[in-house]
Amino acid sequence: MTPEQLTQLIDFSYIAAVVGFILSLKWLSSPVTAMRGVLIGEIASGVAVVATLFDTRVTEHKWVIIALIIGAGIGVPLGLVKMTAVPQRTALSHAFGALSAALIGIAEYYVGVGNHSITRFQMAEIGLEVVIGSLTVTGSLIAAGKLQELKWIPQRPIVYKGQNYVSLTVLGAAVLLIIALTVHPYSPYLFPIMVVVALIFGIMLVTPIGGADMPTVISLLNSYAGFSAALLGFVLQSKVLVVSGALDGASGFILSVIMCKAMNRSFTNVLFGAFGQVQVSAVGAKEERVVKSANPEDAASILAAANKVVVIPGYGMAVAQAQHKIRELYDILTKKGIDVRFGIHPVAGRMPGHMNVLLAEADIPYDKLMEMDAINGDLPQTDVALIIGANDVTNPAARSDKGSPIYGMPIIDADKARTVMVIKRSLAVGFAGIDNPLFYLPNTLMLFGDAKKFVTEIVQSLSSANH
Ligand code: NAP
Repeated sequence: MTPEQLTQLIDFSYIAAVVGFILSLKWLSSPVTAMRGVLIGEIASGVAVVATLFDTRVTEHKWVIIALIIGAGIGVPLGLVKMTAVPQRTALSHAFGALSAALIGIAEYYVGVGNHSITRFQMAEIGLEVVIGSLTVTGSLIAAGKLQELKWIPQRPIVYKGQNYVSLTVLGAAVLLIIALTVHPYSPYLFPIMVVVALIFGIMLVTPIGGADMPTVISLLNSYAGFSAALLGFVLQSKVLVVSGALDGASGFILSVIMCKAMNRSFTNVLFGAFGQVQVSAVGAKEERVVKSANPEDAASILAAANKVVVIPGYGMAVAQAQHKIRELYDILTKKGIDVRFGIHPVAGRMPGHMNVLLAEADIPYDKLMEMDAINGDLPQTDVALIIGANDVTNPAARSDKGSPIYGMPIIDADKARTVMVIKRSLAVGFAGIDNPLFYLPNTLMLFGDAKKFVTEIVQSLSSANH
C-alpha cells in the first residue's frame, strides 16, 4: 500500500468512526435502541484508535501498547462497578479523559518550545485546552469523591461570603495567563502557573455544589472534557478528535440543560447557588407528626382493589435491586386487569436514565414507562401511587415551600393520587437531605422495609390470594 493509499484509508476510517459516533448518540436516546447505540459507539472508538495506530506520525508503538495495557487495567475494573456507583465512575472517566487531554497539551507546549515552532494561534489553542482539561480533572475528582461519600471530602456545599468573587478572580487569572502566553508563547515559567491556577479553579467550581445539583455538574464536566478533547484535536490537527470531542461536549451540554430544566434551575443558579445545602430551619424544626404504616398484606389488598396504579421508582429501588420483583408485581397486577404504569422522574436515582435502565433490564415494557410530564396529569385519577425507594422526586415541598432547597423542582405528583404507598426503610432523608411532608399526609401509607423484600412479600400475598 502506498503512503497516499494508507492516508486515504485512515481518513475513510475516521469518517466511518464519526458516522458511528453520531448513530450511537441517536440510538442512545431511546431505551429500545440503547444497546445498539453502545455497541456502535464502542466499534467506532475501536476503529478510530486502530486507524490512528497506522498514522505515520505514530512511531513509538511500544509506548502506545504500554499505555493501552495500563488504561485497560484501570478501565476494566472501573467498568465492573455496581450500578449505584456509576455516577462516580462516570465522573472518574471524565477526570481521566480530561487528564489525557491536558497532559498531551502540556507535552505539545514543551515540544513546541523546544523546537521554537509554536505560533501565537497554537498557543491560544493549547492554553484554552490545557485550562479546560485541568479544571475538569480536579472538578471531576472532587465530584467523584463527593458522590462516593469519601469521608475527607465534605458532602455539603462549602460556601463562604464573597465566594463567587474569589472564584471568578481565579478564573480571570487563568484567562489572563492564557492571554499573556499567547502574546509571549516562549514564557515557560508562566505555563505551569496557568496549569496550577486551572487545577485550583476546578476544585473551587465543584466544592460549593452539593446535593441534587451533582447530576447536572457531572454532565457539565462531561461537556468540558469533550470540548477540551475537541480543542486538542485542533492542536494535533486530528479531525476525528475535533468531531468526537465536539459531539461529546455538545451532548454533555444539552444533557446539562435538560437536567436543569427537569429541576427548574438556571445554569448560573446551579453553578453559583450552592444548591443542596441542608437548610437547618427545614430539617431542624420538627414538630411531632404521625405517619400511618401498613404491612405487605394490607398493601397487597389495596393494590388488588385498584383500577389504576402508578409505580414511582427511585434510588432505593436501585440500591435494593428490586426491579425484577417489581416486574413480577407488574405481571400479577396486569393479569388482574389493573392498569399499571411507571412514572419516571428525569433525576430519579443517581444518574440520567437510571430508572429506565433498571426497569428495561427487568423487561418492563417501554411503553409503560411514562415521563414525568406525561404521567402527572393522570395522577389525580390514579387509585394508588406506589413509591418504591423514591423520596426527593416526590417531595411536595418543591411545589409549596419557598424555603426548601428543592423549591421549584418539578416533581411527580404522587400526593394527588387517592392512596399513596411509600416503600422505604425509615423516614430518613434522600439525596437532597430534606424532610418529605408527603410521608405525613392523611392519604399516605408508609411501607417500612427493604424495597426488594417488601415487594417480594406483596407478590407472595397477592399470589396466595389468587390460589
Ligand atoms: P432519594 O431522594 O435519594 O431517596 C432515596 C430513598 O431510598 C432514601 O430516602 C432511602 O430511604 C431509600 N432507600 C435506600 N435504600 C433502600 C432500600 N434498600 N430499600 C428501600 N428504600 C431504600 O432518591 P430519588 O427520589 O430517586 O431522588 C434522586 C435524588 O438524587 C435527587 O435529589 C436527585 O437530584 C439526586 N441525584 C440524581 C442523579 C441523577 O442523575 N439521577 C445523580 C445524583 C444525584 P431509607 O433510608 O429510609 O430507606
